[in-house]
Amino acid sequence: MLGIGIDIGGTNTKLVVVNRDGKLLAQDRFKTEPSKGAAHFIRVLAGHVDTFKRDYGRQLVSIGIGAAGDVDPERGVLRFAANLGWGNVNIVKPLGKLTGLPCVMENDANMAAWGAYELECKRKNDDILTLTLGTGIGSGMILDGKLYHGATGSAGEAGHLKLVPDGRQCNCGGKGCFEAYCGSYAIMRRARELIKNEAAFVRRYASPGHERFNTICLTNAAADGHAAARKVWAETGHYLGLGLAGLILVLNPGRVVLTGGVSKAREWFMPAMKKVLSAQQFKTPFSKVKIAVSDNSDLGSHGAALFGLERALK
Ligand SMILES: [Zn+2]
Repeated sequence: MLGIGIDIGGTNTKLVVVNRDGKLLAQDRFKTEPSKGAAHFIRVLAGHVDTFKRDYGRQLVSIGIGAAGDVDPERGVLRFAANLGWGNVNIVKPLGKLTGLPCVMENDANMAAWGAYELECKRKNDDILTLTLGTGIGSGMILDGKLYHGATGSAGEAGHLKLVPDGRQCNCGGKGCFEAYCGSYAIMRRARELIKNEAAFVRRYASPGHERFNTICLTNAAADGHAAARKVWAETGHYLGLGLAGLILVLNPGRVVLTGGVSKAREWFMPAMKKVLSAQQFKTPFSKVKIAVSDNSDLGSHGAALFGLERALK
């Protein structure tokens, strides 16, 4: 039995077909083009699912979707998605009708959390916190072996925890949020304050083919001993530690899985992050937690496929 996993992002939508062990059998992607509207998007999406149906037929039993935004998992409605510009779109119902497959939809960080539970932890640990470190910060929780939704399905909006009173401006409109310090946009905003000659910095440190002032460039510079780059990563680690400490105190997870583009700089932010965690006064919740970085950049789509299968076969 196979499941389809879908990851809806602002730029691209990714699809995968996996088996129950998470083995990837097929994949596909297309431009989301949110400006063409949700109805158009759902038709295009159903067309891509049909291609899989021609190849795998009745082996396909479910669709799991992760979407970046505020999702109502019970009704399958994307209530709000800043990067798509859509509000209150029911995706699950029309997609189920068009494809004839049972669909579930969750926030993308929740699906990354399910992916971490199944693929990184092999279901051996029932209490897992996953942080997705990208432009913003998302989080998902598996508690007692179940995906935790909260009262409105919005659990895990860790990116908007207020870390610093009246602190840096966040994309949400608020100030001092976790992601206003540790989201990639915030990291590069801080880097701009310390690195004056941006063009020269990019020329020297950007990876070939990616000549942009971004976190990859900043990681390369840190590896080369660039003092300001290392300082930015150390500060990022400090704030990551503060945010994570609060989450660990509340949830007492056995595992924390970090994923997303920013997590690739682990070598440069981890020491400062761990320093904050080990300086906590109340030690017990920190004594057993293992912190890991997942290099699986498809944790979201794979997690969505496996979550869809879990629901359909329950
Ligand atoms: Zn915020």
